[in-house]
Amino acid sequence: MFSVLDMFTIGVGPSSSHTVGPMVAAHAFVASMRDAGLVERTDRVRVTLYGSLSLTGLGHGTDRAVMAGLEGNVPATVDTQHMLRIRETCALDDTLNLAGVRRIGFDYDRDMVFDKWRRMAAHPNGMRFQAFDADGNLVDEQVWYSIGGGFIRRGAPDDLMIGIHERPPEGSSFADEDGGDSGTDFGPEAPYPFSSGSELVALCREHHLSIAELVWANETATRSAVQVRTDIDKVWRVMRECVDHGCTSTETVLPGGLDVPRRAPRMYERLASNSDVLKRGRSRRDAVLESSDAAWVNLFALAVSEENAGGGRIVTAPTNGSAGIIPAVLHYYWHFMDDANEEGVVTFLLTAGAIGYLFKRNASISGAEVGCQGEVGSACSMAAAGLAAVLGGTPEQVENAAEIGIEHNLGLTCDPVGGLVQIPCIERNAMAANTAINAVRMAMLGDGSHIVTLDQAIETMRETGEDMMAKYKETSKGGLAVNVVEC
Ligand code: SF4
Repeated sequence: MFSVLDMFTIGVGPSSSHTVGPMVAAHAFVASMRDAGLVERTDRVRVTLYGSLSLTGLGHGTDRAVMAGLEGNVPATVDTQHMLRIRETCALDDTLNLAGVRRIGFDYDRDMVFDKWRRMAAHPNGMRFQAFDADGNLVDEQVWYSIGGGFIRRGAPDDLMIGIHERPPEGSSFADEDGGDSGTDFGPEAPYPFSSGSELVALCREHHLSIAELVWANETATRSAVQVRTDIDKVWRVMRECVDHGCTSTETVLPGGLDVPRRAPRMYERLASNSDVLKRGRSRRDAVLESSDAAWVNLFALAVSEENAGGGRIVTAPTNGSAGIIPAVLHYYWHFMDDANEEGVVTFLLTAGAIGYLFKRNASISGAEVGCQGEVGSACSMAAAGLAAVLGGTPEQVENAAEIGIEHNLGLTCDPVGGLVQIPCIERNAMAANTAINAVRMAMLGDGSHIVTLDQAIETMRETGEDMMAKYKETSKGGLAVNVVEC
């Protein structure tokens, strides 16, 4: 049964689709080999990355994530420092500790293949895992897809392959499937299953429930209330730790070669020391720069996004590239609302999760599938919904805020410079967090009635993503990625 809390998984930076998903897939591959007794027969493993994973995988750490997964690690608990060094560690003797139990040969140049010319028709983030015995015989072969937000889906070794710029033939892509992502069904136990924004609002009306109350009932249909609450508290704790780490990091530059500076620590020092600038007789210019709520929201978003870019522990929300937006708006609620409390945090996350579910089910949260509108746009919409809910918005006002949050991100392309989740991603999180808050201002001053529905905006996002050229979908072959010269 799908849980809306699956929209908030604890993982590792810098990318949910290119780091978290591939690690989960590699782990699933070795777990199934272990169950089938094949690990002992394996002397070598080859991994081939296709499509977007091959084009931007190096910058996103896909290779390191896959290697960590092959060693038996999972994103929630992997040692982030080990991950940063794993390629060099394995290169010392060209071996890898398969499933954590068997040291096998692993020559990075031979066994980690970036196929930049082909992609799998079903999804741009395809991976092929092959295991060989000592005589070079194939022991096992599996195809997996990283479908966004850290979610994976298994394919078959003979799945259709096409050229990197080819459009998938009709019916061959997951995007063609009716009803969206098959991994997003509520089980029969859920008392209030919904598949669209209009259904969600209608259910709330009919049963006199808020969106958060309705989602809570679904979540606790198969798990205890204590367990659900524990999971939510854990998500909130990791979000807070992430903001803290980002604000106090002693690293000055992000990894990857672009020499992008970490800005959150300096910004934090300045904001924290000048938080009362008007009273202290500072200029209005300083006040505008430093004392507005927006400056703090920027800081929260940059702190998380920089942690993500640095390969730190992160809550995927709903993806890693967009992971700064929801924590930034939630911290805004936490620090700037007088009556903020833990119950409000629960309401925020359950509501945001419900909206994220609609994006994942009916369109996509994968930048490689629909561009950045699917990542930052979805997160902006989710954050707007969460904030509207804790401000006492009706289900209609929450839906309105969520709709504004995505509408003005429609068409947003994914063009990360150098294939790194840094430019434009980090600042884009700050911009979208403030957009979400602004969306709430507009929605809460209305009565919830509006012309474009959230469902229409989500469908528009899906169609726009389908029409978007591949070079704007996490391939680093268009946009800023080609107009910013790399030194
Ligand atoms: S541009 Fe957007 S979708 Fe692309 S990597 Fe950055 S945050 Fe993700």
